[in-house]
Amino acid sequence: MTGATKAPRPPAQQPRWAGGVPLADVVGELATRPPLVSAESCYALQRELSLAAAGGAVVVQAGDCAEPFADADRERMTPKVELLGAIADVVESVVGLPAVRVGRFAGQYAKPRSRETERLPDGRTLPVYRGDAVNGTAPTPEARTPDPTRLLAAYDHAALALDALRLAEFLPVFEGPAPSLCLTYASHEALLLDYEDALVRDDDRRGGGYGSSGHLLWIGERTRQVDGPHIAFAERVTNPVGVKVGPDASGAEVGALITRLTEGRPRGRLSLIVRMGPRIVDELPRLLGELGDLAARALWISDPMHGNTRRNHHGQKTRLLPDIEREIRACGAALRAHGLPLGGVHLETTPEPVVECVETEADLATRLDRYTSTCDPRLNAEQALAVARVAAEVRLD
Ligand code: PEP
Ligand code: MN
Repeated sequence: MTGATKAPRPPAQQPRWAGGVPLADVVGELATRPPLVSAESCYALQRELSLAAAGGAVVVQAGDCAEPFADADRERMTPKVELLGAIADVVESVVGLPAVRVGRFAGQYAKPRSRETERLPDGRTLPVYRGDAVNGTAPTPEARTPDPTRLLAAYDHAALALDALRLAEFLPVFEGPAPSLCLTYASHEALLLDYEDALVRDDDRRGGGYGSSGHLLWIGERTRQVDGPHIAFAERVTNPVGVKVGPDASGAEVGALITRLTEGRPRGRLSLIVRMGPRIVDELPRLLGELGDLAARALWISDPMHGNTRRNHHGQKTRLLPDIEREIRACGAALRAHGLPLGGVHLETTPEPVVECVETEADLATRLDRYTSTCDPRLNAEQALAVARVAAEVRLD
């Protein structure tokens, strides 16, 4: 035997931090901070998701693609929570089951990116924006330099956003009351492992540790390698977790993820958030077939946004409503054929009166001027409610 062991895979999509303050100092500081959310409130969400996994509720997860720090106040958080509530109301009224309300907010500050750099219209090339937790949107080398002190700002802004929600009595201040399904929970992509690891706290109720940065943490399509450190993080924490699943996911990989993330855990612990785009028609039935009975151990949620991003004639990122609706229908049909319900929907939305997603192919010729997203195109309220209705109808089929 040579005794060679496989080196652990280095984490994907981590910023190359620069700036004056060492990352280790920032991580040390984060480790002293109080938890942003309580273990008890994560457990309350877990119970709601267990109900959803048993077919008694439907998950509605929605919010910005990249949440700006500047939104972390009551004035800006309230409309986001209200839109999530309106989407949930549509689902509840059509399906006749309670909706589990999970915001993509109060911590959605880090973005995985397909490219390291972007070319500006003036010909300059700059590092891409990776979310307010990493760098700034301004098109200057200084703003785009990953700065570890932004991780402290991410913590502070998540705390402010969560306070705004609690003040509005949307979030439970947990002293152990029985949860009801009208509470709003916070979720984000667990991308920056230095941040997430530093915020793991003891879970006194269940033993072990929980990620105290948000109630539900998901692992993105670009970081879900079975032997990678993001999945190891998800395995380590007691929170409910999600994993994005794209069209190239194999049955072997997803099967291994399901086993690792659900073994000995309650039902609803793992949401698989399917984002396959047009290829879903072939790939989801293929994947479910490969998984067989294992598939029923996860809650299956449709993210009809991330496989349907395209550029309009002006180079702006957009998504077509018919593509989005088609993906939800295909997701529901494939799950139904496998004997599983559509467990919920995951959307990028904003209460702002933007037009970032469009209705028809012809709209691709129009330059979108009501566009404020710093990353992916979001549904406005009217569009979000229309998509929610489709998801609800699919669930009923
Ligand atoms: C996202 O949810 O914004 C995202 C980047 O998704 P995915 O990991 O599915 O590409
Ligand atoms: Mn996105």
